[in-house]
Amino acid sequence: MGNAILDQLPEPDLALLQPYLKLRAISRDDVLCEQGQSCNLVYLPISGLVSCLGASVEGQLIELYSAGRDGLIDVGILLNRTACLTTRVMVAGEAYEVSAENLWSAAQRSPSLALMLMQYTAAVLHQMVRGSVCGHFHPAPERLNLWLVATHLKLAAAVIPCTQDSIAQAVGVRRQTLNSMINALQRSGLVQVRPGQVTLIEIEKLRRRSCRCIERI
Ligand SMILES: [Zn+2]
Repeated sequence: MGNAILDQLPEPDLALLQPYLKLRAISRDDVLCEQGQSCNLVYLPISGLVSCLGASVEGQLIELYSAGRDGLIDVGILLNRTACLTTRVMVAGEAYEVSAENLWSAAQRSPSLALMLMQYTAAVLHQMVRGSVCGHFHPAPERLNLWLVATHLKLAAAVIPCTQDSIAQAVGVRRQTLNSMINALQRSGLVQVRPGQVTLIEIEKLRRRSCRCIERI
């Protein structure tokens, strides 16, 4: 199927869900759901990357975690039909779309699916805790290197096709700060920057210059 949760399901359990899965394209900057809104659709990407963002009262956004073919967007909708964060496509791709009711109903009949959804929820919590601690204690240039390496692993590609605005939100820095950090990486020959994409040239050096959170990836 191409999505880690679906691929780990035993065949009879997947059969419970398969009639309700609809494959659709997800385009860069598509907002799948906004924080606080009622929403009934859950997405299981098979490619691309979706940024899950928290909004401040003033409307500023910061990435809390991202999900690609390893996950599901988003757990809050599955549990209470209300988005607890804003989900926006960072890298275009394809995703299976399913209603929260149909996924929930399949999970009630499939202990394997229910367990997988709980494990994924725990993994998201871990990712958010790690991100919060990292954002508070680790320097921004090291966080950028970490994000580049982690995203390269999620996409299984050296080219990260997303805008510098989204990278700034993901790393939790202003656009200007991101610009000067990424230009410094380009001058050192570690990345190559083009409008709308960053290519990693020296992945091992980026890994070595990441904060120690890299040890948990
Ligand atoms: Zn860190």
